[in-house]
Amino acid sequence: MSTSKDPTPTDLATGLAHGSFQLLLDEVGAFVYTTDLTGRYTYANNLVLALLGSGLRLEDVLGKSFTDFVDIGEASDTLRETDRLVLEQGETIAREESNFIHILGQTRTYWSIKKPLRDDAGAIIGMIGISHDITEKKRLEDRVHQQKELLDTVLDNLEGLVYVKGANRRFLYANRHLAEVFGRPVAEIVGRLDSELMPRDVADAFWEKDAHMLATGQRYAGEESLIDAEGRQRHYWSVVVPWPDFNGMPALIGLITDITELHLLKDELQRQARTDSLTGCANRRSFFEIAEHEFARSRRLGTPLSQIAIDIDHFKLLNDGYGHPVGDLVLQDFSGCCRSSLRDMDVFARTGGEEFCILLPDTDLRTAHVIAERIRNLTRDCHPSQQHPQLQMTASFGVASLEAKDADFHALFARADRALYAAKDKGRDCTVVLGEQEPAKG
Ligand code: GH3
Ligand code: MG
Ligand code: MG
Repeated sequence: MSTSKDPTPTDLATGLAHGSFQLLLDEVGAFVYTTDLTGRYTYANNLVLALLGSGLRLEDVLGKSFTDFVDIGEASDTLRETDRLVLEQGETIAREESNFIHILGQTRTYWSIKKPLRDDAGAIIGMIGISHDITEKKRLEDRVHQQKELLDTVLDNLEGLVYVKGANRRFLYANRHLAEVFGRPVAEIVGRLDSELMPRDVADAFWEKDAHMLATGQRYAGEESLIDAEGRQRHYWSVVVPWPDFNGMPALIGLITDITELHLLKDELQRQARTDSLTGCANRRSFFEIAEHEFARSRRLGTPLSQIAIDIDHFKLLNDGYGHPVGDLVLQDFSGCCRSSLRDMDVFARTGGEEFCILLPDTDLRTAHVIAERIRNLTRDCHPSQQHPQLQMTASFGVASLEAKDADFHALFARADRALYAAKDKGRDCTVVLGEQEPAKG
């Protein structure tokens, strides 16, 4: 293909006759040469001469071709084809070439442009070639490419979610795991707004934190949760680092570890720490925690707060007579009976072996007494063991309410306990109420 820009021999002759033009060609930092129709050199600048052999002068190479000096091995077919396209078809070819250069003892890579050279009538008479040594640039590119591949492999195989989000709220990078959470391929995440990938309110809540970090340059580390593509609640440990310039834009790098399993385990451990394993009701520690809270609430709002202390009667005898496993069944059955007859806001707890407590918020002494009697009567109807239908149990109850003089919850607890002991003293299977005006009443 001919173009009006192809140089003619007259152009070159004029230029070459002029000393400074040749000097210029020697100084351009590129390999410049011309050949005839058979590929034999008609001109070569100093870089080409130095490449072809040490100490070569122009007259040593004129009339010879590149392959007389350089072994290009398997690339010779490609070279021949390129030269054919230029010399026969008149095309301009620009391509990358790698050649083993004997004089250097190594393979070098060139960006090589070959154009047809025409006579004044426009007929092709040879070619002009300009090549740049791009070996170092190429090596650098290969290294960058390799490092990118390494980074991609690491990031995609990391058991964590990694992303980069720009100041425009668009994702600039997402690893495979993050894409899985959103249920889309990586390519569908990069470039998208956060609000396109999660519900608007969730995206806005994240962005509030993100914007603060972008503004202050501060790093964030903390727990976050998200509903995944399958509708499951996931928990994450999230570290977000501001990155002032990601391709010209302030951005945030997010490194997220899925801690859902750990979170569930922590919840379960916390639940177990608050729960009595035999009966499934609150344990003593949990009872006191809630009681402290209810005490403060009652004081703040001026509402009544009552407690019922319960101890199963002659439980030791029951254990001895029927065996420990039946004793366990009795404890479980008794717990079930009590819980089913209480409000959600009431706290039923196993505070000792066969001792239980009920905390009744917003309940005065009189009502607490009624509730204690109701449960005492229920207890009599409990038949926990089918193998022992004759098994009967009773319990003793002590009732007290928070009074103005009580400095803390323990004062109420101690009073309910005293009432319970009074019930035992009275012969068991009864309720004793200890109030301000009442020393001990059944
Ligand atoms: P009182 O009427 O005076 O309360 O007599 P009691 O026998 O109920 O009281 P005591 O304190 O002498 O005995 C309590 C018994 O409760 C002794 C203990 O072995 C039993 N116990 C404590 N925890 C458990 C448990 O988890 N399972 C069973 N089966 N028995 C338990
Ligand atoms: Mg006891
Ligand atoms: Mg007992």
